[in-house]
Amino acid sequence: MVGGSTMYDVLVIGAGPGGGNAALHSARAGLSTILIEDHDEIGTPVHCGECISDVACANLELELPPHVISKRVHGIRVIFPDGTEKKLTEEGYVLEKHLFERWICDEAVSKGAELCLGHKVNSMEKMYDGEKFIGWRCNGKGDKFPIEAKVVIDASGVAGVSSKILELNPRPHVIAGMQYEMLEVPTDDYLDFYIWPKYVEKGYVWMIPKSDGRANVGLVTENKSQTKKSLDDFIKDTHFKDLEQVSPSWKIKGNPAFGGTIPISGPHENTHADGLMLIGDAAGFTSPLFEGGSHLALKSAVFAAQTAVKAISSGNLTADSLAEYTSLWKKEFPPYNKILSGKSALFNLSDDDMSVMAQCFPDEMSNMGPHGKLLVCLKILLRRPKLYVKRIIPAMLSFGYSRAKYYGW
Ligand SMILES: Cc1cc2nc3c(=O)[nH]c(=O)nc-3n(C[C@H](O)[C@H](O)[C@H](O)COP(=O)(O)OP(=O)(O)OC[C@H]3O[C@@H](n4cnc5c(N)ncnc54)[C@H](O)[C@@H]3O)c2cc1C
Repeated sequence: MVGGSTMYDVLVIGAGPGGGNAALHSARAGLSTILIEDHDEIGTPVHCGECISDVACANLELELPPHVISKRVHGIRVIFPDGTEKKLTEEGYVLEKHLFERWICDEAVSKGAELCLGHKVNSMEKMYDGEKFIGWRCNGKGDKFPIEAKVVIDASGVAGVSSKILELNPRPHVIAGMQYEMLEVPTDDYLDFYIWPKYVEKGYVWMIPKSDGRANVGLVTENKSQTKKSLDDFIKDTHFKDLEQVSPSWKIKGNPAFGGTIPISGPHENTHADGLMLIGDAAGFTSPLFEGGSHLALKSAVFAAQTAVKAISSGNLTADSLAEYTSLWKKEFPPYNKILSGKSALFNLSDDDMSVMAQCFPDEMSNMGPHGKLLVCLKILLRRPKLYVKRIIPAMLSFGYSRAKYYGW
């Protein structure tokens, strides 16, 4: 108890997948943990296509309960501008994401974490005992404030609350995403990703199938002001045009479209400081090509909780003591800049170049191996030698990095 309020070991800001898992792992390790969430309920509004791979579940040791699963899926099918289709087969799930997030938070609470909904942090102040840093006093909207904690895990998503309050990192560039839930959508249980620059600038359109014939049909685009128009145009011009758009069950009023923004500038420069770690979208962790972020958020939460346990037991809460967190994610997560450079090369190709590249890919891209990749490169360069200078090789490799084992989904 400092100044009349309880001193928690860990305060987690934001109850998305990252925050819920950080609270779960902190509480499970015996740390007194408080998890706060700005909204009055967890998981809504949904801002996610809702898919997660088997590889991610195994990596995170998640045993999903049936009620959070919407559909079993076989992987990703990439559809290029000329209609060429190539598969990246790897099994996974489409979730009812709000139920998944609620389940993770319930698990955290069952391990002893305290959950406070309708609590929004808007200030953070360092606390000292003499010269020694001993934690943070956070204030904001909600009865529980001020909240004091030895370690703060910032899982506030793209809002990046601690970066903003403490001026720790500049605001990230973001890409806008929007989707509709549609009914009676034909599917063979692949996630369809359309790389069709005509509709989306440096982004893609998806059809992510769910149970009972439902699907999320949406897109991400760098042309933020055109997000809804681009999605509506895509739907109007394709086989989706005659399908019914509905509001998802959790959305009781307003336009049926839902979405959000995703950081795309890569991991922040500073992901830890005295008594503070940034995880998930708040740290800028998203996969560069298809912008998946749940796997990265959930895993960075594990690293942050592990680091908090060690720092708290050592009694040293300074940035030096938490530097291990940054080392852990840097060692594990794929090379963002390398993949980004592949993405830029991909979006510099004309539709025709992209289609030539796609035609040279095998129908199944997930098991190409080094020889397979070399063969594809040779095939592409034989058909269109000028593509070498357009950096076709990094463009091609960016697909490999979108696989689950590289935290693509
Ligand atoms: C349209 C769209 C589709 C996507 N599709 C996919 C997909 O299919 N697969 C995938 O892996 N990823 C997808 N993503 C990305 C994915 O949703 C994010 O990467 C993921 O949710 C990040 O989790 P998080 O816990 O870091 O942050 P979030 O899920 O954003 O959670 C942050 C939480 O913090 C709360 N919060 C914010 N500020 C405060 C504050 N000051 N005080 C208290 N609480 C606060 C917010 O209310 C929120 O609940 C998609 C994103 C969008 C926008």
